[in-house]
Amino acid sequence: MSNSFEETLRFIRESAQRELAQADTEQKVSQIRVAYLGRKGKLTQLLRGLRELPPGQRPRAGELANALKAELEKQIERLLVRLREEAKQRTLTEEKIDITLPGTPLVRGRLHPITQVMDQIVDIFTKMGFRVAEGPQVELDYYNFEALNIPRDHPARDMHDTFYFSEEVLLRTHTSPVQIRVMESQRPPIQIIAPGVVYRRDSDISHTPMFHQVEGLMVDEGISFVHLKGVLTSFVQQMFGEKTRLRFRPSFFPFTEPSAEVDIGCVICKGKGCRVCGGTGWLEILGSGMVDPEVFKTVGYDPEEVTGFAFGMGIERIAMLKYGINDIRLFFTNDMRFLEQF
Ligand SMILES: [Zn+2]
Repeated sequence: MSNSFEETLRFIRESAQRELAQADTEQKVSQIRVAYLGRKGKLTQLLRGLRELPPGQRPRAGELANALKAELEKQIERLLVRLREEAKQRTLTEEKIDITLPGTPLVRGRLHPITQVMDQIVDIFTKMGFRVAEGPQVELDYYNFEALNIPRDHPARDMHDTFYFSEEVLLRTHTSPVQIRVMESQRPPIQIIAPGVVYRRDSDISHTPMFHQVEGLMVDEGISFVHLKGVLTSFVQQMFGEKTRLRFRPSFFPFTEPSAEVDIGCVICKGKGCRVCGGTGWLEILGSGMVDPEVFKTVGYDPEEVTGFAFGMGIERIAMLKYGINDIRLFFTNDMRFLEQF
């Protein structure tokens, strides 16, 4: 066999191995495979050229060339296996998740301060035996005014700044119409609270066109002002603390007689006098009174048989006093910095 053939083989083997030693990706190895063993590869060309050798040399030359081909194929295969394994290990290392890193914080929702105070008020009264009653927000003039002893020409209507849909239909200006609806539909004894949304055409530092009230009503034989004082005293002490003082001040409401406004000792200055309480040491928190006999007659109760008391308070006002908030509009501007404090 010619030396030149063997030399060519040796040259091919050395250059193939040199290139394979430097190949560090599957792609580069594939290119080398094509360059040597592909249809136009260097070794393939050499094998094709065997037929031009003298017949006596062909078997030996073929044997050597095929041995080299097998050797290179085996090497390439091993190298590919190694590279794939290395790539896998690299992926596992680089993409490893560090479970000790701090996670993305979950922002927890919370109840609106008005809802929280409302829930608290409802909770206090239901523990005293009051049942929750509800009524429509779009109300008839009859329930909002007429049946509550506020006829059309009554001056009290001016204070209500009512949103009217028509002469007969309006957005309720207080939760008191629920009293009438409950009394119309059942007989005494009655002991309900009616929490809900009310509306008035008014907007400033202490008024919003939509706000919340809780109405209370207790009717039975022998209910007196003493019961009213007992229930409201217990409520105020649970809401603002056991040492909270309260006083009943004569007032006027068309649907109660006698009527009283309830003040509590100023929660800001503890009675010494400050800007919030206007220097008086007292804060007005609710209106109340004994149900007017005229109202009982309207719903078909006999005022000689039963008596009762009613009270109503603004939830926003209670919340403002409880948390020391000076502008009612803060409740409804959806400022997270404000809401997150509750
Ligand atoms: Zn004060």
